[in-house]
Amino acid sequence: MKIDKALFHPDYKPEAFWWEAARPGTEHSTDLPPATEIFIVGSGYSGLSAALELARAGCSVTVVDAVAFGGGASTLSGGGVSAGINLGKGISGTPGQNARGEDHKALVTSLLRESMAAYEFVGELVARENIECHFEQRGRFVGAYSKAHYPDLVKKAAFLNDLLQMDAAAVPFEEQRSEIGSDFYYGGLTINRAGKLHPSLFHKGLLDACHRAGVTLCANAKVNAIEGSVGQFKIKTARGECRAEQVIIATNGYTGALTPKLRNRVVPISSQIIVTEELSEDLALELIPNGRTISETPRVTSYYRLLPGDRRVMYGGRARFQDVPPDVSATLLHRMMTDRWPQLKGVRITHSWSGFVAMTTDALPHMGQEDGLHYCTGCNGSGVAMMTYLGKQVARRILQNGQSDSAYDGLAFPDVPVPFYNGKPWFLPIVGEYYRYLDKKERRAAG
Ligand SMILES: Cc1cc2nc3c(=O)[nH]c(=O)nc-3n(C[C@H](O)[C@H](O)[C@H](O)COP(=O)(O)OP(=O)(O)OC[C@H]3O[C@@H](n4cnc5c(N)ncnc54)[C@H](O)[C@@H]3O)c2cc1C
Repeated sequence: MKIDKALFHPDYKPEAFWWEAARPGTEHSTDLPPATEIFIVGSGYSGLSAALELARAGCSVTVVDAVAFGGGASTLSGGGVSAGINLGKGISGTPGQNARGEDHKALVTSLLRESMAAYEFVGELVARENIECHFEQRGRFVGAYSKAHYPDLVKKAAFLNDLLQMDAAAVPFEEQRSEIGSDFYYGGLTINRAGKLHPSLFHKGLLDACHRAGVTLCANAKVNAIEGSVGQFKIKTARGECRAEQVIIATNGYTGALTPKLRNRVVPISSQIIVTEELSEDLALELIPNGRTISETPRVTSYYRLLPGDRRVMYGGRARFQDVPPDVSATLLHRMMTDRWPQLKGVRITHSWSGFVAMTTDALPHMGQEDGLHYCTGCNGSGVAMMTYLGKQVARRILQNGQSDSAYDGLAFPDVPVPFYNGKPWFLPIVGEYYRYLDKKERRAAG
């Protein structure tokens, strides 16, 4: 693909903008202890949130990561804080019951209510741990990608208000410019109970809180094998061995051969982001007048926002479905961004990066225990709130001797329905391009 060099600012960096403030590192890292009560694999939001809950309850907890702390998705995300499940998509396919024995209707209501609890939990955690991470609750705008999608959004607003009091409202095309400086969408939906934060500062705040709470933290300690069973696990890492009573797997989109069953149920999809140079105050205000996060309705979706300070745009999406060099994804994302905001033609890119999200075939996150190992996974691209919350729920489940407070516990967790799938999604470019084709067709047909 031809790269247009003029799109890149002289200070361009092929890494996350967020890392300017806090990059994945090894601060607080110590030697691996010979034994611990709870051993957690993965130092993203879910691992750290679980660790914090357990340590505050008096457990001895060790968190390890294969790389630096926060080396997975948690310092790479768009920082949109939302209810965390794709309302309406996964729900219809959700099988009958969960570990609490709720039937389908009760289950759907519980899952949705809990997604709002996940959103609220981020606010509580930020306040309780005094985390300075630019957490702003300025809401979200969801753009209708095709004319046919708008009536669905009108219905969705009513549904979200009835069940979850989400303070949602449909915005017709004629009023759309009060939310976004673009005529790209066919109207949209605003949700006031949504927000955004600075992902790597939020992560740093959680890491510091874990350190204060006495969690043992070990970076660059890839776990290669877990042997044994509950009460007597032996964990083999790149930095030695450790014995543990309980193990939590918090590896999400970076789940590998260590846990083949989990790996076979999630599809790691690359999500890519660019950040622009600073814009004039007037232009930035025109783009997103109310400072909301923006998402949209197609299958292959984009997500975007202004950065803290409200002068630069962050634009994220699926330029490609597998990892590609950052200058390639940057060029494609810039094109997508200027389709939505033609006024940004000529605005240069300062940062470009990507990371992996874990998609599940029912579009829902999952938690539970299998073969003795506790897990939470399947952020489906919206895990800032949900994975943080599920980390806490996994911890509560351990503290309550297997009794869970969460409707997400024990949902049937389907394998990826591709023969011989082993975590390498060779089929993604084909499926992804097919989805893109369907999106365009819908937009043309009804638009
Ligand atoms: C580009 C991008 C944009 C996103 N935007 C948003 C957004 O706007 N809003 C939103 O809600 N969500 C978003 N997400 C999703 C969100 O970032 C994730 O859901 C969340 O960070 C997942 O946290 P986690 O702790 O579960 O996993 P991660 O943060 O991915 O942590 C998993 C960790 O496990 C470690 N690990 C894996 N295997 C091993 C092993 N064998 N031994 C030791 N360690 C191991 C990895 O190194 C990694 O650090 C985005 C994600 C990406 C990549």
